[in-house]
Amino acid sequence: MTTYRTVRGMRDFLPADLAKRRFVEEKVRECFNFYGYDEVETPILESFDLISAKAGDEIRHRMYAFKDLGGRMIALRPEITPSIARVVANKLRTEVKPLKLGYIANCFRYDNPQMGRYREFWQAGFELFGSSHPVADAEVLAVNNELMRRLGFTDFSIKIGHVAILRQVFTDEGVAEADQNRLMELMDKQEHTKAYHLLSDLKVSDDCQATMKGLFKLRGTDWKNLLEKGRQLLQQKEGALAALDNLEAIIGFTRSLGVKTELFMDLGFARGLEYYTGMIFEVFVPGLGIALGGGGRYDHLVELFGGEPLPAVGCAPGIDRIALALEKKGLFPDQLTHVEKVLVVSIQKELLPKALELASNLRKQGVAAHNEVTGRSVGSALSYAGKKNYRYAVLVGSTELERQCVILRDMKAEAQREVPITNLFNEIAFR
Ligand code: AMP
Repeated sequence: MTTYRTVRGMRDFLPADLAKRRFVEEKVRECFNFYGYDEVETPILESFDLISAKAGDEIRHRMYAFKDLGGRMIALRPEITPSIARVVANKLRTEVKPLKLGYIANCFRYDNPQMGRYREFWQAGFELFGSSHPVADAEVLAVNNELMRRLGFTDFSIKIGHVAILRQVFTDEGVAEADQNRLMELMDKQEHTKAYHLLSDLKVSDDCQATMKGLFKLRGTDWKNLLEKGRQLLQQKEGALAALDNLEAIIGFTRSLGVKTELFMDLGFARGLEYYTGMIFEVFVPGLGIALGGGGRYDHLVELFGGEPLPAVGCAPGIDRIALALEKKGLFPDQLTHVEKVLVVSIQKELLPKALELASNLRKQGVAAHNEVTGRSVGSALSYAGKKNYRYAVLVGSTELERQCVILRDMKAEAQREVPITNLFNEIAFR
């Protein structure tokens, strides 16, 4: 006999694991509603071209991609932002702006499986279309903050940067976009030495090299001071200075929005995805060296997919890593499912129809009443009810029925008493 296992990097979600994921998803949905993001769903399969257009080499090479039977090149989505931008470009062109869309969906990347890195994982997303104002960027940061607080995190930080600072410096030097992408990717992987070598190969000026080296050093929590140092370093570089001003305005608005979270500014910060055009960020909790989520501004993606030019900013909190962090910090509530279950058991076989009828009536009144369905002894049924965390067992026996009563057993208190059937619902619902 063959034993089948999950495909490498894939996971089965057993009830306890799924309850944890659902807990996080529920908090995400609360935030969708609270901040006015309408939930959408897109297909798990997308055209390879759509996803790879601006994915960055790292993700491009880790896609599950294949030809379908019709000969189309297809990919299992490695992230959702391109799908949302496609929907906005094709189907929501005429919607009033700003347009706010949310999603929760599984993604696939052929990553090396390890803690917090899976080949199938879940991302939530908040995407805001139709505003280039820094307050829109600040709102996305505030939504992230709200989500983290609602999940119970008190200690977390946001790493923040702005891709237009470096990109403007490179553009001023005439570095082609493809080379800029290679540089940004090396920086995303913290491979700074390789990035310096590439810059030398590209024969950029000494000033450009010095600026880049200088920017890499500008990182820390004293963001006001870092912005000032950035301004000194970037003197005369109008485009890069404008990006710094934009970053400062965004941070200012987050403070007005009540976001007091610690900011770790990194002016040499880059993210793997090529579509970012402005502010970028990642969320961290102490003790877990991987980002729980990330996001940023991407002003040209909708246009690239055939829509009108439409500025956009968004983020993707990673559900799995959030669950991992909640687990590590002991922040999951003790009871993830709050439904109080009642097991209805007939003491004599011939009273089974009566027990079924009773459970059915309780369900009509909104009680999660379940039937004993194996025909086993009362003792075994009660032992099952104990193991499965039933709140009550209702025992239907001939002696009590003669008095129009049943036995109500409190499984927590391990105590039981006779209760008139007419009172049963009140006894269970309004103790
Ligand atoms: P990205 O789309 O790369 O910006 O990732 C956004 C978030 O998705 C990350 O911060 C993680 O929380 C999550 N994520 C990305 N890749 C993986 C993975 N292989 N396994 C689990 N979570 C992931």
